[in-house]
Amino acid sequence: MMYHDVAIVGGGCVGLSVAKHLAERTDLDVAVLEKEHHLAAHQSGRNSGVLHPGFNYPPDSKKARFATEGTSRMKKYCAKHDIPCEELGVLVVAQDNSEEARLDKLAEQAEANGVEYKLLDSQAEIHEHEPHANGQAALYAPEAASVDSQQYVYELAKEVREAGVDLYTDYEVTRVEQTVDGYHLATSNGHFEVSYLVNAAGLHADEIAHQVGVGERYQVVPFRGEYYEVRPERADLCQTMIYPTPNPELPFLGVHYTRRTDGKVIVGPNAVLAFGREAYDNTEFDPRDLYETLTYEGFRKLLSSKLMIKVAWDELNKSYRKEKFTKASQRLVPDVRAEDLQQSYAGIRAQLVSDDGELVKDPLFVEREDAVHILNAVSPGLTSSLPFGEHIAETLVEKV
Ligand SMILES: Cc1cc2nc3c(=O)[nH]c(=O)nc-3n(C[C@H](O)[C@H](O)[C@H](O)COP(=O)(O)OP(=O)(O)OC[C@H]3O[C@@H](n4cnc5c(N)ncnc54)[C@H](O)[C@@H]3O)c2cc1C
Repeated sequence: MMYHDVAIVGGGCVGLSVAKHLAERTDLDVAVLEKEHHLAAHQSGRNSGVLHPGFNYPPDSKKARFATEGTSRMKKYCAKHDIPCEELGVLVVAQDNSEEARLDKLAEQAEANGVEYKLLDSQAEIHEHEPHANGQAALYAPEAASVDSQQYVYELAKEVREAGVDLYTDYEVTRVEQTVDGYHLATSNGHFEVSYLVNAAGLHADEIAHQVGVGERYQVVPFRGEYYEVRPERADLCQTMIYPTPNPELPFLGVHYTRRTDGKVIVGPNAVLAFGREAYDNTEFDPRDLYETLTYEGFRKLLSSKLMIKVAWDELNKSYRKEKFTKASQRLVPDVRAEDLQQSYAGIRAQLVSDDGELVKDPLFVEREDAVHILNAVSPGLTSSLPFGEHIAETLVEKV
């Protein structure tokens, strides 16, 4: 039996950031339990690696606060720890009048959130930034950056270990039970008794929470996001980052172009129902996870909306038919051809859905006397991870 004051389940960027801030503020004996042998195996290492400076989120929202603060703190963190991070800026392009009107809304949000921006109102101005991007108008936000998220996670892990946190990799938490003075955790490698629990298990956070009667109105529905890489000799099609104007009714940003810190240009992700919480390939499926999703009343209610059926069908097509993915990519960069795109990696988002069929769009954590359950570390969770982890650590410290 192992004993600690605090167990953090999940060693992604959020769990490790909580550990970092607890170690900086307290002398609590903290353990992080991570089921994988290698870190950054799930969301924190399989994403677009973009620091979103906060123009996408309504003023005064948690997302806006965490994203703006997160972007600037993350840049400083990367500079201090020698993690690749490049402030390339992002171009959000509008293809028609309705999208152009939405750009004005983004500009208002940028203004209110203190995010730098410039509105471009012609194709010629767009071409000065991105010679191959297509649009009648655009919002340019110079503070957006590209970061190596895997190196970031490994650096956080190194830092917390040096600060005295025990990081147990290959320890899958299989059962959580509440005891008189804390929690008993059964893992794939032995048992733990702890006084406080932080659930930062990402794609499995709902499963951990449900075991102690928390968050039962919600379930994680996994959405796979697939990427293509632009062949290196055609990588000049995108110099920085090119995004579509977001549709406020949808939780995902849409297929976009990102120049990564290693110089590769990736296109994606789409957003298709994954047939398992960790089914990264579109031929893979986990019968138990799939059954759980298909029989979940929240998911069935979600699919009762005509818009969602249409989106699901379009996204499914992009997953199984390369020509559909290419077409979505050509909307932003008409010069890209199917043969320029090579299949690359995929990530899976832990999309929280409520019993009444709502996609939960805001960060959600549920507090108990001796626990914090992070049920929705929603995108831009990487960008926000430093202030978000700090906030959760402070919440826990108040309980101790
Ligand atoms: C395709 C995609 C693109 C994205 N793009 C961006 C972007 O450009 N910018 C941005 O800011 N955000 C982006 N995000 C969002 C961001 O990646 C996530 O919000 C963030 O990584 C969440 O971190 P996490 O630590 O909560 O989750 P995770 O990284 O999933 O970490 C959870 C950890 O818990 C472990 N775990 C789970 N169950 C157990 C258990 N029972 N026992 C022990 N360990 C367990 C897992 O192995 C995992 O390591 C993207 C996400 C995806 C999927």
